[in-house]
Amino acid sequence: MEHNSNFIRTIIKGDLESGKHNKVITRFPPEPNGYLHIGHAKSIIINFGLADDFNGRTNLRFDDTNPLKEDQEYVDAIQEDVKWLGYDWDDLRYASDYFDEMYQRAVLLINKGKAYVDDLNQEQIREYRGTLTEPGKESPYRNRSVEENLSLFERMKNGEFQNGDKVLRAKIDMTSPNLNMRDPVIYRISHATHHNTGDQWCIYPMYAFAHPLEDAIEDVTHSLCTTEFEDQRPLYNWVVQECEMESQPQQIEFGRLNLTNTVMSKRKLKLLVDEGITDGWDDPRMPTISGLRRKGFTPEAIREFVKETGVSKGSGAVDEAMLEHYVREDLKLKSPRTMGVLRPLKVVITNYPEGESEMLEAEINPENPEMGMRQVPFSREIYIEQDDFMEDPPKKYFRLFPGNEVRLKHAYFIKCHDVIKDDEGNVVEIHCTYDPETKSGTGFTGRKVKGTIHWVDANSAIPAEFRLYEPLVLDEVMKAAEEEGEDKTFIDYINPNSIEIIKGYIEPNMENVQPQDKFQFFRHGYFNVDPKHSAPGNIVFNRIVSLKSSFKLK
Ligand code: ATP
Ligand code: MG
Repeated sequence: MEHNSNFIRTIIKGDLESGKHNKVITRFPPEPNGYLHIGHAKSIIINFGLADDFNGRTNLRFDDTNPLKEDQEYVDAIQEDVKWLGYDWDDLRYASDYFDEMYQRAVLLINKGKAYVDDLNQEQIREYRGTLTEPGKESPYRNRSVEENLSLFERMKNGEFQNGDKVLRAKIDMTSPNLNMRDPVIYRISHATHHNTGDQWCIYPMYAFAHPLEDAIEDVTHSLCTTEFEDQRPLYNWVVQECEMESQPQQIEFGRLNLTNTVMSKRKLKLLVDEGITDGWDDPRMPTISGLRRKGFTPEAIREFVKETGVSKGSGAVDEAMLEHYVREDLKLKSPRTMGVLRPLKVVITNYPEGESEMLEAEINPENPEMGMRQVPFSREIYIEQDDFMEDPPKKYFRLFPGNEVRLKHAYFIKCHDVIKDDEGNVVEIHCTYDPETKSGTGFTGRKVKGTIHWVDANSAIPAEFRLYEPLVLDEVMKAAEEEGEDKTFIDYINPNSIEIIKGYIEPNMENVQPQDKFQFFRHGYFNVDPKHSAPGNIVFNRIVSLKSSFKLK
């Protein structure tokens, strides 16, 4: 967050000036239970960005304390995504590398009379916890002796009990107004194979116990997390202190990033993948980093967007249009312009000599002349967009209609004189004449036309597939359903128009496009060559964003 000041930066600056710290260490701590999404990008940018500004260090740490949900696939994807966003960690760490030390610290708590083994089951523990208005009740097992606790905890570790039979709890205060302090569970039994430690452990530390220890072990100075952890801060500090950690990290919370019309939690995103609603985690409709990448977003656009959203305690939803704005800004000068016809209608130019063709010159990007020129073939038959022609146009329709003249972008004026229809009355072909005097670039000033339309040469154009997207779930639809009191989840309201696949044509000079190449198609917006489905002979484009913010609820 190079220049923008924010409250976290102010705290860090103060800590360095007062001598509380002489270095800054942060970490980005994802749980490898899914792919990263745009919300994580915010955390990444804050953690890496702030450490960078103060010449500090940032670890990438996998918070892998729940073997049932975690997977190597996610570990790999997360590393790829962090790098793609433009960040490089100092150390790569795994919470599971600290399981031995965490176990020792739990034993220390038991020895100090600050932890005990409890036989209550999950439901009983919940009942005993009380509520915000009622104090909790102490477990009948709370006052076991240190010896008994040590022995039971060791037997838990040795696999003598089943899942759920026993837990280890911190002994804090069952009457605390903060529910997190009412003897939280810090270890549970889970006979499961862990992606990193295999079958070495059958007890696993809970997040609230593990996370502060991980931070302290790594000498993290500022542990930045989102505001839902605010109530856990007293427990975080309790763990660091009672476990007698040398290093005392400071937890600071900031507001989550939320986007309109965007499902964000990993749990929901995983459901979309598991139900086969999307084409994997990197489906271009997913708000995952890999989905945004495949759709065609750039790291620069994501970084600029996130920086613009700022750092604060609030977490209102940011308009998705703002993210789109930044990708347009980034691609404007970088991406070649081209013409593609998404819904083709054939035009025959009846006075153009049969069998002949010519090459026309066009700028690759008029806003960035350094990109040079491209060659666009032109001949007697071309395709235009179906909706660039109307037989019976309303007033102020300046595109093609019988008797009207328009400019073909980079080419000539054409005038329509005939409309060919099929038996059902559908327009299947248009006949026009062209005026050779009006060639683009010759400075022709004889007369003006009001409309300019794009086209491709029918003989040489390459067929291509275009995929157009809308959000998977629309906020208004969900809100309306909620107000109706419908007892359904977001998955029941998937937008039926979230993807539209159409076949059109592109300029022949695009034959050798590569996956992830990005173009601005005249009037249609920015598109990316899909890395998964595009192949030579079958080019597939994902629309990243239209040229203007045009998305409206239907
Ligand atoms: P989700 O709730 O979407 O599944 P999570 O918080 O469970 O996300 P973690 O893997 O625990 O995912 O997150 C790693 C880090 O990213 C945490 O520090 C978390 O606070 C942060 N983070 C997650 N979602 C967001 C978000 N929407 N905005 C900002 N930071 C986020
Ligand atoms: Mg989580």
